Amino acid sequence: MNPAILIAVASLLLLTFGRSRDRLSRHFTAAQLSVTNTGLPNEIPAMFRANAAQLGSVLDTIYDASGGIVVTSGYRSGPVNDAVGGVTGSEHLQALGADFKSSRGMDAAGLFQLVSDLDLPLAELISYPSHVHIAVVPP
Ligand SMILES: [Zn+2]
Repeated sequence: MNPAILIAVASLLLLTFGRSRDRLSRHFTAAQLSVTNTGLPNEIPAMFRANAAQLGSVLDTIYDASGGIVVTSGYRSGPVNDAVGGVTGSEHLQALGADFKSSRGMDAAGLFQLVSDLDLPLAELISYPSHVHIAVVPP
């Protein structure tokens, strides 16, 4: 086989498997559920990956029901949680908590109401002026 074709195939495989490894749910990747603007490293540890997948699955339902959401904070390492003023013992530290807003221009109060009406199995549901916070029950 032509070496150029081999390289192309290898690159494609790497891309495909790299992507699937990063995907946690239909709408969310690990990168999206560990986003931070602190500049600190913030990778979801393997021990919290199942929590993050559970979080992604609940967020998928909210995404579909609302027409689209953007997660502004999901998993937080200890230093990231400290940097953003997160509470001690925050569900974000175990990849069980997420802050999000509508990507369709719905305000946070409207999004909060929509999530309430979905009757999801949530441990926490809090409305903030700029976003909604949820915490899910561990899988
Ligand atoms: Zn939060």
